[in-house]
Amino acid sequence: MEAEVLTFRDVIIVPGRAEREPGEVNLETSITRRHRISVPLLSSPMDTVTEDRLATLLARIGAVGVIHRNMSKEEQAAMVRRVKEADPSPSAEVPAAESLEEARQAAAKGLPSVVLGSDGRPELVVLPAGADYRVLGVKAELLYDLLASGVKPSLDEEGRLLVGAAISPFDVDRAVLLEKAGADFLVVDVAHLHNTNAMRALKRVADRVGAEIIAGNIGTGEAVVDLLSILDDRLSGLRVGISSGSICSTGIVAGASMPTLTATINARLALESAGLHGGIPIIADGGIRGPGDAAKAIIAGASAVMAGRLLAGTLEAASRFVRLEKGVFKTYRGMASRGAMERRHASDRYSRPSKKLEEGVEGLVPYEEAL
Ligand code: 5GP
Repeated sequence: MEAEVLTFRDVIIVPGRAEREPGEVNLETSITRRHRISVPLLSSPMDTVTEDRLATLLARIGAVGVIHRNMSKEEQAAMVRRVKEADPSPSAEVPAAESLEEARQAAAKGLPSVVLGSDGRPELVVLPAGADYRVLGVKAELLYDLLASGVKPSLDEEGRLLVGAAISPFDVDRAVLLEKAGADFLVVDVAHLHNTNAMRALKRVADRVGAEIIAGNIGTGEAVVDLLSILDDRLSGLRVGISSGSICSTGIVAGASMPTLTATINARLALESAGLHGGIPIIADGGIRGPGDAAKAIIAGASAVMAGRLLAGTLEAASRFVRLEKGVFKTYRGMASRGAMERRHASDRYSRPSKKLEEGVEGLVPYEEAL
């Protein structure tokens, strides 16, 4: 029985007595059975959010990206390879200069650069005068703090950047190719995985690849039990939340939804009953409006959150720029919106290709919305 249904808006975190200072907080977390990252954030596999550029950046600063699948499997595999081949250093976001003099010369040409200390850590970020240089919507001053604080990139066992890739449970070939390309984990990308055909299909994928699998989206404890019985130890993570995304219209079109917060609680209770909470990470996906919602999700039992809208307005997101009189915006659309479905490859996200119903909307978000 899942009687009470709560959204992030329904709950608050009651301020309690704090034993630690913010700087002492360690946010390191698991995102699969094997992989750990230091910033509990995954970017949504959406065609206006995660391609190799955002995935590379996120991994460099300790989070991780999941490359969307609204493209050919070869293109998606090429993006995975580019992330795996990228320089893993966080300071690679800003080109390194050999000396302060060289950094000044770069600044005179309008380019930012970072001067590294003898230990290889960033010592100084030099910016062109008047520049508003941002990474992920974070202004240069903060960027400097971020780099100087020795942020830990998300790495695989061989020291390469970590990256996930979205798959359909019905596309074994794509999963095999992505694994070959070096994807560290595969993220099932369907609106409602708790469907007999979809789960059986996923089992066939799991039998063909060795990569870890984050399965979803699901919203109930029953779905966790069924997935465990089908996938057993091949289940490496759960992507939870149905119809809670900012661009989602499933709740209106289909009437079915499970808010991310309650979906997280349901998954946690089911995992606890199976003695697996902590072993199989829960990724709370959809409706994360900011760090406060992430904190609520983590308190409810999630290991990390997945966000789309929060990242879509950044320079690094895969979205297009739109200039309007009132400012600069970037596109953001649901993967079941008309525009996304017109690009053939996402047509099965919300069911088999035969279903033509739109379950997402298209919109604009302000460019470089601060995180
Ligand atoms: P946001 O962070 O924008 O609130 O939510 C992003 C999440 O919404 C994605 O990770 C995915 O789970 C979900 N999503 C993406 N596209 C669609 C869509 O077209 N319809 C629905 N129902 N959900 C979507």
